[in-house]
Amino acid sequence: IETKPWHKHYPPEIPTSIEYDEYPLHHYLKESAEHYSKKKALYFMGKELNYEEVYEDTKAFASYLQKLGLEKGDRVSIMLPNCPQSVIAYYAILMAGGIVVQTNPLYMERELEYQLKDSEAKMILCLDVLYPKVANVKPATSLEHIIVTGIKDYLPFPKNKIYPFIQRRQYQMLVKPEQSTDTHLWRHLMNESSKQVSPVEIDPKEDLALLQYTGGTTGFPKGVMLTHYNLVANTQMSMKWMYKSEKGQEVVLALLPFFHVYGMTSVMNLSVMMSSKMVILPKFEPEDVLKVIAKQKPTLFPGAPTIYIALLNHPDIKKYDLSSITACLSGSAPLPVEVQERFEQITGGKLVEGYGLTETSPVTHSNFIWSNRISGSIGVPWPDTDSKIFRIDADEEADHGEIGEIVVKGPQVMKGYWKRKEDTDKVLSEDGWFRTGDMGYMNEDGYFYIVDRKKDMIIAGGFNIYPREVEEVLYEHEAVQEAVIIGIPDPYRGETVKAFIVKKPGQVVTEEELDEFCRKNMAAFKVPRIYEFREELPKTAVGKILRRTLVEEEKKKRDNK
Ligand code: AMP
Repeated sequence: IETKPWHKHYPPEIPTSIEYDEYPLHHYLKESAEHYSKKKALYFMGKELNYEEVYEDTKAFASYLQKLGLEKGDRVSIMLPNCPQSVIAYYAILMAGGIVVQTNPLYMERELEYQLKDSEAKMILCLDVLYPKVANVKPATSLEHIIVTGIKDYLPFPKNKIYPFIQRRQYQMLVKPEQSTDTHLWRHLMNESSKQVSPVEIDPKEDLALLQYTGGTTGFPKGVMLTHYNLVANTQMSMKWMYKSEKGQEVVLALLPFFHVYGMTSVMNLSVMMSSKMVILPKFEPEDVLKVIAKQKPTLFPGAPTIYIALLNHPDIKKYDLSSITACLSGSAPLPVEVQERFEQITGGKLVEGYGLTETSPVTHSNFIWSNRISGSIGVPWPDTDSKIFRIDADEEADHGEIGEIVVKGPQVMKGYWKRKEDTDKVLSEDGWFRTGDMGYMNEDGYFYIVDRKKDMIIAGGFNIYPREVEEVLYEHEAVQEAVIIGIPDPYRGETVKAFIVKKPGQVVTEEELDEFCRKNMAAFKVPRIYEFREELPKTAVGKILRRTLVEEEKKKRDNK
């Protein structure tokens, strides 16, 4: 690999190029089960499973899938929140030769049907409460089997306590699998399974592990084809990046959903490859997170800005001991510098910003954790990852400091979009450069900065406004918990800036005060002209604020006038 401007910042512990394993992903679960069989693999609401137990259940599920007719390359959907089954099923599908299709458990029937049809999934594993939705759409899809699981499959019902998913009474009324041949209950099939998995030959560079539908922040969802090699490479890069971590030593907080590529690679695959223990949380409740950190003492905490912000704003944060945390990688949205600093103060650990996309497994850039970090930057490209800035809609490279589209190339870049060659060709060149659709620049030193998404740029009175710049300022105001700005049509300026604000609990602030604050801190053309205060903002599963949704809402409002 040729020397790049950012390589000079690499600490000696991180190689600029790595020789990646050519194993299928599930190999690492087997390896952890062999070398760390009695070590805890996961913790979930009071229950712990060691690597041997996870591996045994994985084999049991894999062999049952084969018994149901799963063949190499068949797609199997997982529609679960984070729980032991979402880990076990993931590796089992791969072991049986299948391709995992992660399905957001919050999907409504329309979205679910679209994804099942598009991926032509043959089987689905879903949470008990979601069974009615799945059963309703089944006739329109190529689903042959539905497998149902519930919290009960690994945990007793807590006494007198409503657990996060479903109540006991509801559960008992729900599924009657005895009446059908295409519906199966997890606990029955686990008891019946032989655990004899017929080995499947996997070519890691060619064979897909995953069809991962993109967050849906732009256009309609497309299945991103990620190979075993893509995912193994990205996970091995992150192990090198965290060179202070040792196998079998870390405890990883698994709060990001596994059905999103970020939680899947940077939490689940990483944890299994490092033989760590995952502390699994099925949903985000700030108080539960603080409690679990104090008790389970996770050392690594991958997250997103909104997660760290919500924790920082919890009134009792200081009452909990968060000192076990040594490193956090924040991705999926810009990390306000203020949040980074406060979180580091409170935990004593490092919080660094990274960047990536579904199409890149996901990580391509990040800051170094223990040296040379630059706040406000997404850092530098990871080992074997090349990155450039292209002038907008041109194939030429921009100068240092000039804003353009970020393009990347590396072993983590997807094979393409499932059955959409045309869409693939638009973003992926023949020699492997992927256009991210994100706007940014690289400074003289080789550090990258995101300014915004290509399509989020606002043009007001001929000036370009990048939402991030304005939002950064708003986040600095003491009463602001969350801020997002969008462009809306304006008869004079073409577009003008509207801000959506969520106030911190108990804080009062007026439009006038925010306006004054903005005018002090940014060029007048960037200052929001309209404010709307909200209780909360629409977000993706990993906590990224859905700017698009707000844009759509505004458009609807105008259309109805
Ligand atoms: P997804 O495919 O859902 O992971 O979304 C990927 C998108 O998230 C990227 O194209 C970026 O627009 C955004 N993103 C990820 N990391 C960052 C970051 N550190 N700063 C700003 N935007 C980010």
